[in-house]
Amino acid sequence: MSQLQQVTVLGATGSIGLSTLDVIARHPARYQVFALTGFSRLVELEALCLLYRPRYAVVADERAARHLQGGLHAAGLATRVLFGEQGLCEVAAHPEVDAVMAAIVGAAGLKPTLAAVEAGKKVLLANKEALVMSGALFIEAVRRSGAVLLPIDSEHNAIFQCLPGDYARGLEQVGVRRILLTASGGPFRETPLEQLREVSPEQACAHPNWSMGRKISVDSASMMNKGLELIEVCWLFDATPAQVEVVIHPQSVIHSLVDYVDGSVLAQLGNPDMRTPISHALAWPQRIDSGVAPLDLFAIARLDFQAPDEQRFPCLRLARQAAEAGGSVPAMLNAANEVAVAAFLERRIRFPEIASIIDAVLNAEVGVAVESVEAVLAADRRARELAGQWLNSRG
Ligand code: NDP
Ligand code: MG
Repeated sequence: MSQLQQVTVLGATGSIGLSTLDVIARHPARYQVFALTGFSRLVELEALCLLYRPRYAVVADERAARHLQGGLHAAGLATRVLFGEQGLCEVAAHPEVDAVMAAIVGAAGLKPTLAAVEAGKKVLLANKEALVMSGALFIEAVRRSGAVLLPIDSEHNAIFQCLPGDYARGLEQVGVRRILLTASGGPFRETPLEQLREVSPEQACAHPNWSMGRKISVDSASMMNKGLELIEVCWLFDATPAQVEVVIHPQSVIHSLVDYVDGSVLAQLGNPDMRTPISHALAWPQRIDSGVAPLDLFAIARLDFQAPDEQRFPCLRLARQAAEAGGSVPAMLNAANEVAVAAFLERRIRFPEIASIIDAVLNAEVGVAVESVEAVLAADRRARELAGQWLNSRG
């Protein structure tokens, strides 16, 4: 492809955002940054704007926008600074944009990601929470608009690479028996269960293989990340929860596998570096250099596998239940988890209480069908309210 592609990076100041910009910088003849968005890291966002000179930047509110606009003008940049959810949706759906990296963390990314989908963009989906929350509505919007949805989550990107091009005909039709979703098991895979009450946010965020934002790092430690990913697999590849098996693979070299009826099992391997799935999705169906070192199998020497222990990782069980229940339940699971993770990071609760909060929220409310984004957001609000009550009841 010779034409320069215009890329919006939602969540540019985060871990995925920065890896995306690293890949883009390696291919200046292919990609140009159209818009960059940030939230709390304004100094970093300003530095990124000076480097990539985007047409637009988006920040949280008007005050931050005025401040950044002043700084960029003084530096001689013509970048226009927008703010809030409306600004995010504008740069996601702008007619001149070709591809949107959806890398805002959590439910905050739902509306901007959907705006990119509805505008029929090439959508590179890192923000799994958006798909988990809105499921059928999201996939229906992709069908309606003709958007090209490409998974950035390393496991889903691996599965996409291991499936045939016509997998949308149905997994059974293309001979798939199971999808094997790999998980590292996180930093607490072998921590004695009675010590989990004492683990700190710093320990939870110190992932053995991946360097990521704090929220997803805690999700990896609790394995809620794998739970959210299970739901993500079901929507992306039209799988049932029963067709997806979680496999703990501590080295994070195999990023997931597809098991076919003839006994063939296809896997995608690589060093644990998000620039691989980002490059894959950006250039798809072509391949480009990502800057990731070649895999050294002799240095890795061995690959291990084990079944997940649901006593150690109750979040995985809760997510599987939510996947089976459907409707508003995954949105409630996600929202309760966001509140619980934030409380853990603020040291208001202990690590095992993340699962207790989610369990309590899901038990307090029956799931309902969701037919609109408003209904999804109402379920999200209700779960946050219930999780807030749980926290307050503890003083
Ligand atoms: P980070 O916390 O590193 O980055 C999050 C980004 O979202 C930042 O740019 C942040 O801005 C922005 N942001 C946070 N809150 C808001 C808000 N309320 N409104 C608008 N923007 C906001 O997270 P990651 O990059 O690690 O993860 C991003 C997404 O990608 C998540 O959904 C995660 O699950 C998914 N993902 C990440 C992987 C990884 O390796 N990191 C792997 C697979 C999936 P600021 O920093 O300026 O506050
Ligand atoms: Mg993942």
